[in-house]
Amino acid sequence: MAHLGCNLKMTQIANRRQIAVVGGGYAGMAAAVSLAEQNINVTVFESARILGGRARKISYRDQELDNGQHILSGAYSELLRLMEIVGVDSRACIRAPLTLNMPPAFLLQAPRWIAPFHLLGAMFTARGLTIREKLSAMRFVSHLRARQFRVDDNQTVEDLFVAHKQPEAVIKYLWQPLTVSALNTPVCTASAQIFANVVRDALIATRKASDLLLPRRDLSAVFPEPAADWIERHGGQVNLGVRVKSISGTSGCFQVETDISTTKFDAVIVAAGPHQLATIAMPSGTLTPFKFEYEPIVTVYLMFDSEVTLTKPMIGQADGIVQWFFDRRQMVDRAVSGSGLIAAVISASGSHQELSQDELAAVVLRELTIHAGALPKLVWHKVVVEKFATFACTPAAQEQRPDVVTRTPGIFLAGDYCAGDYPATLEGAVRNGIRAASKAADFLRHRDTK
Ligand SMILES: Cc1cc2nc3c(=O)[nH]c(=O)nc-3n(C[C@H](O)[C@H](O)[C@H](O)COP(=O)(O)OP(=O)(O)OC[C@H]3O[C@@H](n4cnc5c(N)ncnc54)[C@H](O)[C@@H]3O)c2cc1C
Repeated sequence: MAHLGCNLKMTQIANRRQIAVVGGGYAGMAAAVSLAEQNINVTVFESARILGGRARKISYRDQELDNGQHILSGAYSELLRLMEIVGVDSRACIRAPLTLNMPPAFLLQAPRWIAPFHLLGAMFTARGLTIREKLSAMRFVSHLRARQFRVDDNQTVEDLFVAHKQPEAVIKYLWQPLTVSALNTPVCTASAQIFANVVRDALIATRKASDLLLPRRDLSAVFPEPAADWIERHGGQVNLGVRVKSISGTSGCFQVETDISTTKFDAVIVAAGPHQLATIAMPSGTLTPFKFEYEPIVTVYLMFDSEVTLTKPMIGQADGIVQWFFDRRQMVDRAVSGSGLIAAVISASGSHQELSQDELAAVVLRELTIHAGALPKLVWHKVVVEKFATFACTPAAQEQRPDVVTRTPGIFLAGDYCAGDYPATLEGAVRNGIRAASKAADFLRHRDTK
């Protein structure tokens, strides 16, 4: 009986429709999990030897680091749902109510009250703003809410602040850090509509959605690696170190050529980054041409020979090159005791790009002393520069973002850059991965019923 059961299962798997996913970042792995959930046979091809793409682990001098320190939000409902499905426990992240701590100038902390009282409480107890400034910020949020968070598509975030007469201090300590962290784009060019979406979903929707989540594990272990294990347990395959060179064929019968083999698939989801798409040959006319500018993110890791402790795991600063410092010892599961590891994040383009890596590390060290006082001996620094961290989230880019459905039936796109409400974030990538999987499944269903 056991043998017959096994044969039956093998026949079912052989008969299942086959979809290839190109790219094992958050979008590709979200697409693959969604397909496997629907009993569709999925094969992931990832050119790197590590899963996660722009959110992946790196090793340096026996330390497990990430290619960039990431923050998740309680509003990342789809990523959190998929993490639960693939068995990632809630201890993978430290979860805390919304806090913007920029000592000594500013502190905003949301109480555990239901929305929108959590935000009212946070605003009225915030340190560093006058009553007039707090009221102005609240009026601005009410105005966005009254208009259902719809603003002029061509407006920049700066235009929006000018139109709503936002005081300088409110911009400096509240709106600018929020814009740069979420959209990775300076306020003078960032899309007002995407900013309004972030305020809607990550500030006022619910108290829990406004929580901040800091990963305690490396970014590959937060979702892509457990997702790969789950996919393999559900009959799929995840191939690392395999680069897809071309996708050829037509509706429902595609050949995916990698550097080691060519395999047939019923449909393909291309989940490579937008700057990597040109390296994959596809049937002519598949992609609607789009052109993005990109914004960098730099993470500077500083390792000290003894403990350096910040007052909170994450503190910000409004003056200086660094936007956020993270005390990795307070966050990461396997922190090395007796040493201090700080990650400093510099989002978006700016004057720091003119500095060499050593000069940048020296500036970061100087800025850190403002928050941590006299520092122990620096053992090493590591500067990780991601030049193509995200597309520049401008009003013009909003018009360019392609849909997940391409012009070749059966080929789909997935990624943080595809059309959607979110800026280039883990949640944006995951939502588009799920959407691409749903469109690909519909395509197969439609084809099979013809
Ligand atoms: C330094 C940094 C900090 C960030 N901070 C945050 C943050 O705090 N919060 C947040 O939400 N977001 C943050 N982001 C953005 C977030 O990381 C991205 O939006 C998200 O990871 C994009 O995922 P993706 O799957 O769309 O693309 P990618 O992660 O780029 O995945 C694409 C994958 O495709 C693979 N690939 C490409 N070509 C091929 C090929 N030919 N064959 C096979 N595989 C291929 C690549 O190797 C890659 O693994 C940050 C990004 C960076 C770089």
